[in-house]
Amino acid sequence: MTSGDFVAPSGDGTRAVRAGLPEPVKYEPTLPGPVFAAHFHLPGDPTGPYAYGRDENPTWTLLERAIGELEAPGQDGVETLAFPSGMAAISAVLFSQLRAGDVVVLPDDGYQVLPLVREQLTAYGIEVRTAPTAGDAQLEVLDGAKLLWIETPSNPGLDVCDIRRLVTAAHAQGTLVAVDNTLATPLGQRPLELGADFSVASGTKMLTGHGDVLLGYVSARDGALMVPVKRWRKIVGAIPGPMEAWLAHRSLATLQLRADRQTSSALIVAEALRERPEVSGLRYPGLPDDPSHKIATQQMRRFGCVVSFTLSTRARADRFLDALRLVDDATSFGGVRSTAERRGRWGGDAVPEGFVRLSVGAEDPEDLVADLLRALDESAE
Ligand SMILES: *Cc1c(COP(=O)(O)O)cnc(C)c1O
Repeated sequence: MTSGDFVAPSGDGTRAVRAGLPEPVKYEPTLPGPVFAAHFHLPGDPTGPYAYGRDENPTWTLLERAIGELEAPGQDGVETLAFPSGMAAISAVLFSQLRAGDVVVLPDDGYQVLPLVREQLTAYGIEVRTAPTAGDAQLEVLDGAKLLWIETPSNPGLDVCDIRRLVTAAHAQGTLVAVDNTLATPLGQRPLELGADFSVASGTKMLTGHGDVLLGYVSARDGALMVPVKRWRKIVGAIPGPMEAWLAHRSLATLQLRADRQTSSALIVAEALRERPEVSGLRYPGLPDDPSHKIATQQMRRFGCVVSFTLSTRARADRFLDALRLVDDATSFGGVRSTAERRGRWGGDAVPEGFVRLSVGAEDPEDLVADLLRALDESAE
């Protein structure tokens, strides 16, 4: 690490295990522990990085640096801000960039809280237009928009849109572009390299991967765009706890291991489910015949751990979930322990009653496939 001609690592695994680490200091830990501080010693004029805990914290600094190194490797000037949840990060971008009279384009098949966000934006006099993710349909309603919000792959439908194509059209008319990168993680796709202005994500899912932390972040290449986002974090006070930030940073070291394992198992699981007649509407961007596959292979490096499909009825899906032993019936996704849920139970997504979103964990894929197929058998009429 001290050689003058040291070349930054290009491998995802190397980058993940080293991301954001400080320079080695004798007798100091590799990754310093969480700094619990509401205020810092500050004699004299209030300058310097650490003054008050709502504005800055050394544990966030290391995590933010780490995420920036993964979102935009080798790029200088990328700025990242950590938030206490994905929604805090999403709201920070939308509510700090948009003013009354502005137009924003959202996906109509995105994360289930977006309709609530839409209501709030509309209440503030912001015009919200929506269109599906598939087929780059958001292009058709882009005219005059201040901001385009993309979610790809979409949750839970797993449609994929062409980020570069949407960015080109948006930038040609001065529209900013933000991409929700939650499902892919920065090891799956790097929106900033595809031209997006913001990469925003929930770190609650695969990024941290253990189902024990809520976290979010915003990354951007243009520091000027981050000024209002940072100001928003300060005035709303939406800040992550040092413990959560540290746990997230610690989890990044295994991101490549988890992402590789969970992605390859998701493909195995999807291939097994495809053989079953009672499974319909199977979606996984990594399946060569999936409608998302072509664009996904152009812009993604890993296809993620979420597989979705539909069983005939709500009752069948409930029986199936109940019969699973290695897959917890729980919401969220991306964790090392597999989870699945009947998405329709929330009422927010436009999905059939028997629609199941399955998040493939780090178990042995043969065990998972056996459990899934057995549960399908046991839940038959
Ligand atoms: C979970 C999720 C969010 C929200 O993240 P939280 O950390 O739960 O606030 C946003 N976008 C997508 C795609 C998600 O899956």
